[in-house]
Amino acid sequence: MPAQRRPNIVFILTDDHASHAIGAYGSAVNSTPRIDELAAHGVRFDNCFATNSLCTPSRASLLTGTYSHVNGVSTLVTPIDASQTTFISQLKAAGYRTAMVGKWHMGDGPGHDPQGFDYWDVLIEQGEYHDPRFLSADGLRTVEGYATDLITDLSLAWVEGLEGDDPWAILIWHKAPHRPWQPHPRHAELYKDPIPLPRTWDDDYATRSSSARRAAMRIAEHLSAEDLKQNPPEGLSYEDEALWKYQRYMEDYLRCVAAVDDNVGRVIDWLRARGDFDDTVLLYASDQGFFLGDHGWFDKRFMYEQSLRMPLLMSYPRKVAAGQVHDGIVTNVDYAQTLLEFAGVESHPRMQGRSFAGDLVGKPTSPPAEGMYYRYWEHDDVFHKAPAHYGWRDTRYKLIYFYNDGMGIPGTGGFTYPGEWELYDLEADPDELRNVFHAPEYRAVRSALQIRLWRAQQALGDEPHPSQARPEAV
Ligand code: CA
Repeated sequence: MPAQRRPNIVFILTDDHASHAIGAYGSAVNSTPRIDELAAHGVRFDNCFATNSLCTPSRASLLTGTYSHVNGVSTLVTPIDASQTTFISQLKAAGYRTAMVGKWHMGDGPGHDPQGFDYWDVLIEQGEYHDPRFLSADGLRTVEGYATDLITDLSLAWVEGLEGDDPWAILIWHKAPHRPWQPHPRHAELYKDPIPLPRTWDDDYATRSSSARRAAMRIAEHLSAEDLKQNPPEGLSYEDEALWKYQRYMEDYLRCVAAVDDNVGRVIDWLRARGDFDDTVLLYASDQGFFLGDHGWFDKRFMYEQSLRMPLLMSYPRKVAAGQVHDGIVTNVDYAQTLLEFAGVESHPRMQGRSFAGDLVGKPTSPPAEGMYYRYWEHDDVFHKAPAHYGWRDTRYKLIYFYNDGMGIPGTGGFTYPGEWELYDLEADPDELRNVFHAPEYRAVRSALQIRLWRAQQALGDEPHPSQARPEAV
């Protein structure tokens, strides 16, 4: 008997694509018909979260199946030790052919360039949208064209050059729709009609800690003429200028998404034409979420929902029934073990996630997650000014502690502010507009969650900040 065919793996990752800009998630601002096909033919994950909502750390967690404090990639300026075990290095050891094309962004140079891949061809640092530079084992070159299209071209070309029947796994990791939001000219006419505003556009941060007010992420104040490619018209009121900036920002962001959607479609059509679609685990995800005017912001970083939430759509028709919605809590730390389980490869004991492969075939291999631990380490007082914080989110509540201290992380400042807590009841307040940490009726909930957070830190081996008091009941 021949062994059961091992699936191919295609992992399409974008950078900063919020789930509320995807049709399958009910977007009010755009349509993504090709990305939506993955939900129709597979599974939409409604509670997938990033454990550190920032590009570089999330990529390291996806690859290694570990949290930032374990893989060492906690900020934008902490490059990866690429010799760490990843799900890719394990797949390669198990006979998979492996490749990485596109945005790596976990450091360049010896020790940081991709390892564990038969072929890698990556953008430099943040990468360029137009005529990008690519670095491979053969050196650096500039390729004419649009990054989102080129990354797909190079990816498909690698697979087409393979011989033999061994399975393959490829990471197609796009730069789009990351800042500076430069669309392809073919999409220049899209989204010119006024784009609806999010419900929380006018959030005044009245009950929040000081963190939200300090963050330099407001569309009204912190998007530059360079970001928007033009100056606002003269003579507008503060409010009208903010609306003008929102429209200009969203037009370019959504146009960049349109090129992603085209290219997801290309991959689906190509897999179908090869007869490989049914036997391929095909994922579409983004490294974190993004604020699209929510709470008045652009960018990510905060543990609030729009930034915390990762879109994740996955199809594998041979094994996974179509049209499912998975609403359990999963995180970017879980992907590695999940993909290894689909490939029939045992995961590495260092990995800290939970495979959700079994959930998708009606045979969960472990109980659902009770909640998820989050930690944003970066703490700069110059650029985004979003303070360092950590917290615990379960199916109803979210507890956040802004410990407000860079703790000596290189490049993230050495200043401190007093620690501050926030608590949200996501059932009563899904938009997270009322911090109830100090509300007497939430005293018991607050205490229970502080203990839960402390226990999560113990279980995962992370150090609570010295200013966080040990809960009495622990
Ligand atoms: Ca990102």
